[in-house]
Amino acid sequence: MDTPTAGQPLLAHYVKKILAAPVYELAVRTPLQPAPALSERLGNQVLLKREDLQPTFSFKIRGAYNKLAHLTLEQQARGVVTASAGNHAQGVALAARELGIAATIVMPESTPELKVIGVRSRGADAVLHGASFPFALAYALNLAAQTGRTFVSPFDDPDVIAGQGTVAMEILRQHQGPLDAIFVPVGGGGLIAGIAAYVKYLRPQIRIVGVESEHSACLQAALRAGERVVLPSVGTFADGVAVAQIGAYGFQVCRDYVDEVLTVSDDELCAAIKNIYDDTRSITEPSGALAVAGIKQYVAQTGVCGQTLVAIDSGANINFDSLRYVAERAALGGALA
Ligand SMILES: *Cc1c(COP(=O)(O)O)cnc(C)c1O
Repeated sequence: MDTPTAGQPLLAHYVKKILAAPVYELAVRTPLQPAPALSERLGNQVLLKREDLQPTFSFKIRGAYNKLAHLTLEQQARGVVTASAGNHAQGVALAARELGIAATIVMPESTPELKVIGVRSRGADAVLHGASFPFALAYALNLAAQTGRTFVSPFDDPDVIAGQGTVAMEILRQHQGPLDAIFVPVGGGGLIAGIAAYVKYLRPQIRIVGVESEHSACLQAALRAGERVVLPSVGTFADGVAVAQIGAYGFQVCRDYVDEVLTVSDDELCAAIKNIYDDTRSITEPSGALAVAGIKQYVAQTGVCGQTLVAIDSGANINFDSLRYVAERAALGGALA
């Protein structure tokens, strides 16, 4: 790997890349918004980083644009291939169109239709292949090798991690008062690695808490094993984080700089979607609600009060038809309790 091995040099390496990432050609600086009802109920100040308000409705546009902008002109001319559960796909499609790069995107067959439409409507070539992300990934890697196009990882790439890290840069600028913890949804670990690198370099006392679906807890499994492991199966309700193995670059940061990792159930996610709706009148996808579900669990377990806790509200790409299921399950997951 072309990054320093560990410690402060690794963090400094990422902080420099984050500060230099040209993401605002496409991404917007999203609000850090108070969640008054949730704050009142939990006895802590809860702030939502509204990444669901990005173009393409998730933060993935940051990493995708930073990666594509750093390709050489020759690589840009040859085009890119990626595999994605959907949100990275839309980010790559939009970034590629903006930069005039040809993009082929492989998505699992289970990808929600609106994510597939989101890719095609942005001019990229969408290929549906495989039952879940690992199969789509293998197919895309093969395609890249055969065609000479550059493979753009959704998370396992320093330029992608640095692009996602701009979320942390904004949070620390937007909230300069005391901040106790930032809760970050984890799929392949690109977002949390970028956030942890930036925050631990500048404000190391802020806790970085990863939140995973109990059906795709690949970071927790890797931290316990002391090495990256491949989960035998992965649930796809939280399709944005349905990843079987944490990325190598991300794990390099997470093993030293993530303070703890929580796992939550699908019902807890449904309840958190309702909580976010009640406070913002916006609808989040299951992966987008992981961090809020994590905050609720953290407060219940630790009994902290009076703290300032940030949740990354990471995306809003949910099929309208799924909302009936979410509403039904929310009551079981503690939205009312
Ligand atoms: C990709 C994604 C995540 C997880 O990001 P990683 O970098 O893969 O850990 C979380 N939420 C949403 C909505 C996503 O699209």
